[in-house]
Amino acid sequence: MTRLRTVRGTLLCPSRERGRFELIRDGVLELDAAGTIRSIGSAPTGCTVATTRPGCVWLPGFVDTHVHFPQTRAIGRSSGALLDWLQQTIFAEEAKFADPHYAAIVAREFCQAMIDQGTTCASIYGSSHHAATEVLFRELDRSGLRAQAGTTLMDRGAPAELCVAASDALPACDELAARWDGHDGGRLRYCVTPRFALSCSAELMNGAAELAQRRGLPIQTHLAEHPDEVAAVARAFPESATYLETYAAHGLCTERTLFGHALWLAPEEWRLLAEQNAAISHCPDSNFFLGSGVFRLREATERRIRVGLGSDVGAGRTFSMRRVASAAYDASLLNGVKVSSAELLWLATTGGAEALGLTARVGRLESGFDADLVAIECGVADRASSTLDELLDALVFCAEGNPVRGTYVRGRQLARTEAVSP
Ligand SMILES: [Zn+2]
Repeated sequence: MTRLRTVRGTLLCPSRERGRFELIRDGVLELDAAGTIRSIGSAPTGCTVATTRPGCVWLPGFVDTHVHFPQTRAIGRSSGALLDWLQQTIFAEEAKFADPHYAAIVAREFCQAMIDQGTTCASIYGSSHHAATEVLFRELDRSGLRAQAGTTLMDRGAPAELCVAASDALPACDELAARWDGHDGGRLRYCVTPRFALSCSAELMNGAAELAQRRGLPIQTHLAEHPDEVAAVARAFPESATYLETYAAHGLCTERTLFGHALWLAPEEWRLLAEQNAAISHCPDSNFFLGSGVFRLREATERRIRVGLGSDVGAGRTFSMRRVASAAYDASLLNGVKVSSAELLWLATTGGAEALGLTARVGRLESGFDADLVAIECGVADRASSTLDELLDALVFCAEGNPVRGTYVRGRQLARTEAVSP
């Protein structure tokens, strides 16, 4: 696959500051041979470079901070709220990943679904079966996507075919981490992934924390998604004052931890998240589908907690991070807070990179950053009279009318999106 070396067109550049973008209507982006951005600016007078993908807007690729690989084919399967949905729909589908052949077929569908929606980077819950998670890593490697992923750790609270004892699971994770963490110049990372407190023994949580600490790995898990789950955690861990404390007590609340959801938090849990500099993945479409609740975005941003957006497929009904951003708007309005499309798009790109600790190289169009890009066809961008706000609204709220035309990591186009017209 060849890499882009120059992009000329409409460039939408997020700033480091949350919710801010600069629009360059006729810009030029230069890449080096490794796919790193060398320079960005307005096209000079008399520029002879042809427009790349006329009619498209170029921006950083989307970052999906929470998505479940073995739920790819369970998307849109309704069976009520979280705990019922897990028991009635999800565990049976996840059990199929004992077969690495099945895992390989779904891994290809999974990666393609993200590429089709302009996602260039994801934080992925793998299978609880190590062979299937290895298959996922191989497909991520082949696809060219950027990702962190890990075996979903469970040793209780789920059907026996999904549970793996800590004594088996942790050495296998160590082996996967040795093979994949840092692969291809850091494009792939291993992420320690205890599913949630209800599915993990103390031994498994302690071991997961030890592995993450020893290898300097990121951690992801679920936190306070649904009131019934919060009540069940309180019964299962009577020694912990709060849900977050069950993780903190086992070394899993760190600055490398990404917590999914965080809907039902007590004030002391918000304080602890901020103190530890942990990050949150906000998954509004999933929250609506499972009737879980509404995330309080301003509780997080006012405390300067890093927040990204997550599809949470298969509880989320879409791989489109723009659809997720649109759902985040709805969720916020229910809290009486209007969030701008600029902030939503920023959360889906730069904010996601921040939540994954990738701010040095991913999530902005700036010299020295990797050219992880999405090209989105957008008629509004071609109108000379259109404002930046109109463009941002069209990108976030009218995803169907403004399709993705190309998805790139380090300037290299990922499979099956349309080729660049000469
Ligand atoms: Zn999830």
